[in-house]
Amino acid sequence: MQGDRSSATQRRPLLWMALVLLVVVLLAMLIWLAGRYEVSQIQNRLERDAADVAADVRAVFMRNSQSLQALPDGQANAAAWSAEAAAMLRQRRELVRIERRDPALRLLAQVDTPFRAPVFDRLGRDVAQAEFAQACTTARRHNGAAYASSYFAPSMDGLGVEVMDLCIPLETGGRLGAYLVATYSLHEVLGNLATGPHTRGYEMAFTEGDGTRLAMRVLPRRGNRVFTAQHLLDLPGTNLVLRLDSWRGTPDLFPNVLTALVAAMSLALLSVMALLGKDARRRLKAERDLADALAFRKAMEDSLVTGLRARDLQGRITYVNPAFCLMVGFRFEELLGHGIPAPYWPPEFVGEYQQRQAIRMAGNLPPREGYESVFMRKDGTRFPVLIIEAPLINAQGQQAGWMSAFLDISEQRRIEELSRTSQDRLQATARLATVGEMASLLSHELNQPLAAISSYATGSLNLLQQDGDVGPGLRADMALAMQRIAQQAERAGKVIKSVHDFVRRRDQARAPIAPQALLDDIFPLINLQARKLSVRVQIELEPDLPPVICDGTMVEQVLLNLARNAMQAMDHGAVVDRLLRIQVGRVRGAGAERWIEFRVSDLGVGIAPEVQQQLFTPFFTTKDEGMGLGLSLCRTVVEQHGGAMVFEPNQPQGTLFRFTLPVAPAQHQPDLSD
Ligand code: ADP
Repeated sequence: MQGDRSSATQRRPLLWMALVLLVVVLLAMLIWLAGRYEVSQIQNRLERDAADVAADVRAVFMRNSQSLQALPDGQANAAAWSAEAAAMLRQRRELVRIERRDPALRLLAQVDTPFRAPVFDRLGRDVAQAEFAQACTTARRHNGAAYASSYFAPSMDGLGVEVMDLCIPLETGGRLGAYLVATYSLHEVLGNLATGPHTRGYEMAFTEGDGTRLAMRVLPRRGNRVFTAQHLLDLPGTNLVLRLDSWRGTPDLFPNVLTALVAAMSLALLSVMALLGKDARRRLKAERDLADALAFRKAMEDSLVTGLRARDLQGRITYVNPAFCLMVGFRFEELLGHGIPAPYWPPEFVGEYQQRQAIRMAGNLPPREGYESVFMRKDGTRFPVLIIEAPLINAQGQQAGWMSAFLDISEQRRIEELSRTSQDRLQATARLATVGEMASLLSHELNQPLAAISSYATGSLNLLQQDGDVGPGLRADMALAMQRIAQQAERAGKVIKSVHDFVRRRDQARAPIAPQALLDDIFPLINLQARKLSVRVQIELEPDLPPVICDGTMVEQVLLNLARNAMQAMDHGAVVDRLLRIQVGRVRGAGAERWIEFRVSDLGVGIAPEVQQQLFTPFFTTKDEGMGLGLSLCRTVVEQHGGAMVFEPNQPQGTLFRFTLPVAPAQHQPDLSD
């Protein structure tokens, strides 16, 4: 796939270059074709105009020849002829001379144009004799007007004009009476036409067959390219070639609107292409970024140890990551699209999980901190998982399903179990240590009842050994002694039982217990030590305290530890008032209805600042025979119950330890009676 992509990346610039090349060639061709079309348009118009001009010239010649024929008869009325001819010359500037000649071509009469010096001044008329004679012969033959070849007539001022003669035979009574010879100035012919609609902007000339210009009308040149059209003017007796030249500003890149249009469109096309190219580049970049992001996501997913699973709103699996597959032992394909019940649900929990799903699908958000559940691997083994679920919101902002993260917490569970066991063992050890300490107290305490029992027993025996009747007095004494013995034995039994109860390891069991009951249980044990250390014990309980929910044995040990520490702190010569106070009451301020506070205070030596730092550190002790486990265990126990333990200086002296325990929920409270 990588290779495909890189070869596509290499090919892309080539494709673009080919596209640009094609477009450039296409555009160049379009411009060239447009130019050519324009040129041919100009040429066509020129050709048409040339034909029109030629027609105009022909019309002028035709009209003039008719007018000439209509001149009055010169023989009968020479003066009228001259006057008419002169008038005609004034009107038609292209005619420079009109002559009347007899059939032998001798000059009978002549009129010259008033607009210029007579044409034949310089060389005389006879030099052109051959031309018009030829024309007259032709005219005679065709019995109509005929034209002679043009020729140059130099004038006195050194210039000259190209002229052409026209010969019209005039007949009177079916016989040739005379010839009318009119001379055209070809230059004037062109000049007269210049004002016509077809001639504007053209350079016009009459030329010979080889292109030699005979007469021309010159215009100021515009542009540097010439378009030429020639038209043959076929006149009776001779031919003239009319040539039209049009000067244009070519070659020009934009010779006309069409080309400009094409060019503009090409530019537009090129800009669109540039924009497309830019867009394509942007897309390419976005594609690349997306691919990077995907690769990043994939790497992230693969490296995760957290299982991820997405489900649609119907509960079908739409996605699982490798970690999840590894966790449950199913392959990706086996899980994808799988609905409810999922293959990793233990069959015994299917009902419960389905219910949970229904609640979830109803739109209830799961707890943010997650919840615990049990899954089953493909091989059937169960394992605990922590599931954190969140709604899956799509790009439109609508919920498309659920995204869940899974943590396999079996290892965590194992460690917790391990630490709980070791904690339990530690606590048992601590208890035993306390018991060891107590054993000496116990022997001291048991001495009293045992001594009393022994003395009562000795007394009773003495009474029995007395001689004489066993009177009612003796019986009463015996009964009293026996009663005392029983009392003392019971007392010793109680002392032993309290120690036994304390030492006996019980499973952790939390139950609602009245604070009073807790204190009652440990009171004899506290008393044992108190008596030895001459400490007064004062117990104060707020009235109507609700039961606390706790593990009684553990909390008793906490109280016992605190009381013992307090009494030991007062076992000092300096301490005069040895008072141990144990108070139980509601917490002041917020949470009063939920927490009960136990306070154990002494009037002892207090705690030095450097000791305070390490007070709760396991195995920290300042006592020779101490183990340093008491307080650290106390705090652990209290915290396991959700409470907190703190200490502060007591007034006027000594230390005050406080800890809290949760009040049993209301529904537990009636249980107290049993
Ligand atoms: P141990 O009692 O075995 O030394 P603890 O963890 O119960 O272990 O106590 C740690 C230390 O905290 C004690 O050694 C003592 O110095 C100090 N201590 C505990 N309670 C008090 C108290 N009420 N007054 C003064 N010091 C105390």
